[in-house]
Amino acid sequence: MEELTRTNHYGLDTFLHSDIVVPYIDSFGSVEQKKKYLPGCVSGDIITAVAMTEPDVGSDLASMTTVAVEEGDDVILNGTKTFISNGFNCDLVVVAAKDMAVENPYQAISLYLVEAGTPGFKKGEPLHKLGVHSQDTNELFFTNCRIPTKNRLGNKGTGFAKLMEKLQQERLLVAILATTMAEFILEWTIDHIQKKNANNGLKHIPQAIQFALIEMATEVKLGKTFLEKLIADHMEGKHIVAETSMAKYWNTEMANRIANCCLNLCGEFGMLEACPIARTFRDVRVTTIFAGTNEIMKGIVAKSLGL
Ligand SMILES: Cc1cc2nc3c(=O)[nH]c(=O)nc-3n(C[C@H](O)[C@H](O)[C@H](O)COP(=O)(O)OP(=O)(O)OC[C@H]3O[C@@H](n4cnc5c(N)ncnc54)[C@H](O)[C@@H]3O)c2cc1C
Repeated sequence: MEELTRTNHYGLDTFLHSDIVVPYIDSFGSVEQKKKYLPGCVSGDIITAVAMTEPDVGSDLASMTTVAVEEGDDVILNGTKTFISNGFNCDLVVVAAKDMAVENPYQAISLYLVEAGTPGFKKGEPLHKLGVHSQDTNELFFTNCRIPTKNRLGNKGTGFAKLMEKLQQERLLVAILATTMAEFILEWTIDHIQKKNANNGLKHIPQAIQFALIEMATEVKLGKTFLEKLIADHMEGKHIVAETSMAKYWNTEMANRIANCCLNLCGEFGMLEACPIARTFRDVRVTTIFAGTNEIMKGIVAKSLGL
C-alpha cells in the first residue's frame, strides 16, 4: 500500500479490495461463500466494494434506511447507498441493510453479498470529486433486489458489530495512506527545493525554509513511529480501537498540514498539475473524512478516556 501511494495514484483502491472488503468474506463468510468468491478476489477477476453510507446517513450508521426483508430462502433489498469506492467497477458488494422490524438499531443490521448484474441492483455514474480521481466512487441503487438468504454474511443482525470490528483495520490503513502521502511529498519538496537552490547558485537553503522542512520531517517521523507500533499490535490481534482512532485523526491532519506547507514552499509551481503536490493536496483531503470522520474518531477516544 505504501508503494502504491508513492506512485501518487493511490485512488486505484486495491487496498480497499484486498485489505478492507475481502477480509469481510475471509472472516465472516461461510465455506460455500469463500469457495465461490475468494479465488476470484485473489486473482482480481472479482473486484469488491463495501456499501454502508447512504445519501442521508454517514457517521450515524445505525440510522441507515436500506431495508432487508428476509422471505424464506430470499432476501429483498431496497435502498440507496452513496460514495461507494469501487462502486462502478465492482463485481461484488458487501451491502449493509436493516430489518426495520427489529427495534434495537445495533441488532437490526445484516451484511449481504450482492453480485453485480443481480436484477434490481443498479450502479449510478461515478461522482465527480475534488480529489482521488483515479478512484471510482458511486451511488448504488437497490430496488426489490432479490438475493438468496445464503448470501448473508454470518448471522442475522450481526452486521453492525462486524462493521465495527473491521473498522480498526480500515482506519489504520487510512492513517498509513495519509502518512505515506506526507512522507512522499515531503521528500519530493526537499529534492525540489535543493535543485531550485542549486540552479539559482545558492549554497544553502534559507534557514526559515530549513526549519519548516525539519518541523515536517519530525511530524512524519512521529506519525510513522506511532503507526509502526499500531501495525505490530494490530497484527498480534490486540484491541487498539482508541489508539487507531488517535492515529486516524492525528496522522491524517498532519498529512493535510504537510500537503499545505509543501505546496506553499513550491510557490506558483505548486499550483500546476505538473507539480505532483497539486494532486496529493487534493487527494489527501478526504483522509480526514472517510473511514469515519476525525470528529467521530475523537468521540471514540473520548469514550476510551471515560469522558
Ligand atoms: C471519496 C470517498 C470514498 C468513500 N468510500 C466509501 C465506501 O467505499 N463505502 C462507504 O460505505 N462509504 C464511503 N464513503 C463515505 C464516508 O465513509 C462518509 O463520508 C463518512 O462516514 C462521513 O459521513 P458523511 O459524509 O455523511 O458526513 P456526516 O456524518 O454527515 O458528517 C458531517 C460533519 O458532521 C460531523 N459530525 C457528524 N456526527 C458527529 C458527531 N457525533 N460529533 C461530532 N461531529 C460530527 C462530521 O465529523 C462531519 O464533519 C466515502 C466517502 C468519500 C468522500
